[in-house]
Amino acid sequence: MKQNRRQFINRTLAGLATMSVSPGVLGRNITFANESYESKPWIELSKAAYLHNASQISQMSAGKPIVAVLKNNAYGLGEVQVAQLLDQSSHIFGMAVVKDESALAMRSSGVIKPILLMGDFDTALADSLRQQNITLSIFSRESLKKVRQIAKDSSQVVQVALYIDTGLGRMGIPYQEAISIAKEIAGTNHLSITQTFSTLTTPKDFAQVQIDRFEKITNELGKKGVPTGLKHLAPSYSILDISVSHQDAVRPGILLHGSFPLANMSEAEKYPLQVPYCLKAPVIRLEKLKAGDTIGFSRFYQVEQDEWIATLPIGWADGYDSGAENGAKVLLAGELYPVVNVNASHVNVTLGAHTKVRIGDVATLIGPEHSEITPEGFGKLVKGHNYLQINYKESITKQVYETF
Ligand SMILES: *Cc1c(COP(=O)(O)O)cnc(C)c1O
Repeated sequence: MKQNRRQFINRTLAGLATMSVSPGVLGRNITFANESYESKPWIELSKAAYLHNASQISQMSAGKPIVAVLKNNAYGLGEVQVAQLLDQSSHIFGMAVVKDESALAMRSSGVIKPILLMGDFDTALADSLRQQNITLSIFSRESLKKVRQIAKDSSQVVQVALYIDTGLGRMGIPYQEAISIAKEIAGTNHLSITQTFSTLTTPKDFAQVQIDRFEKITNELGKKGVPTGLKHLAPSYSILDISVSHQDAVRPGILLHGSFPLANMSEAEKYPLQVPYCLKAPVIRLEKLKAGDTIGFSRFYQVEQDEWIATLPIGWADGYDSGAENGAKVLLAGELYPVVNVNASHVNVTLGAHTKVRIGDVATLIGPEHSEITPEGFGKLVKGHNYLQINYKESITKQVYETF
């Protein structure tokens, strides 16, 4: 019961994956031979590690405040849980998300810092977004019209962000039109520009062109007396690559979760990050397969000598990368074992000819304990990239701890 030694600070509404839940309650536990054990995977988050990473990112950017990008459910780790932790960091200016419901969910959960909605919103949520003081991005003439409508109906100031496309070509006001739209915003009652942002590409020479475009616009607006608010451009890669990208604030995603955007970046030694999460799953089946037996639909793994095979109740449909069957390891009863099969809902691990592992033992698929199972270590073993293993499905329960 290792978990009891740590301080378990937050059990989310669905956070029932603890030993204290009695068997059968809400169907979470399997009862087997008078024992009770977990039946589903879960994610554990460390507050201390998130706060450490925020502080390291602040050092990378010479103390600039951080706009934490928590899109895609904080890369699968739990947008509300991660936002609640980062809300407590003095290095974090605020959060940024792409979906309207995400912004509202964070605010309802008690997040106090500014929340920037970088994407569009559903008109039905307009009132809530205004009442909850969500900063709305203006990324096109259409979105300006939509936000103006909210301002018209409001007696309070609506905070907006000027989202400029300086060359990523995906979202934002084309840079050539940014000044005229910014002037229109500034001329509208009840609208206030509190942030101005754009996103850099990775090639350094073009990123510099984008920075020049951005600075030309913001300088021009300054001269015309149009406030730009907090200016930010840099995702994780640019934070490390170009210091002039830091502007007033930096806007990382992956660095917060303890991974560098690329494998083997030299900055990793200078600014050590902590792995702030674990992905865990219990052993739900243990069988000794015979030489010649196979595992998986495609008979992917062939047993050469009789060996114990453990089954874990997690698969690629939960967001665990299927490439894991090409070399990833899991930590189980203190030892690392190879993953030999990943299906939609199951993972198989080979334990060898003899094993001390028991049903109900908990495997760590991703975590800080060993270099092979850190997010970056996993990426290397499966020859993938560092963004691979953070796509976990929302249905995976989250538990928040002070520290691991
Ligand atoms: C995803 C994203 C980021 C963060 O990217 P990382 O590479 O994870 O740091 C920053 N800004 C925008 C607009 C994004 O979409």
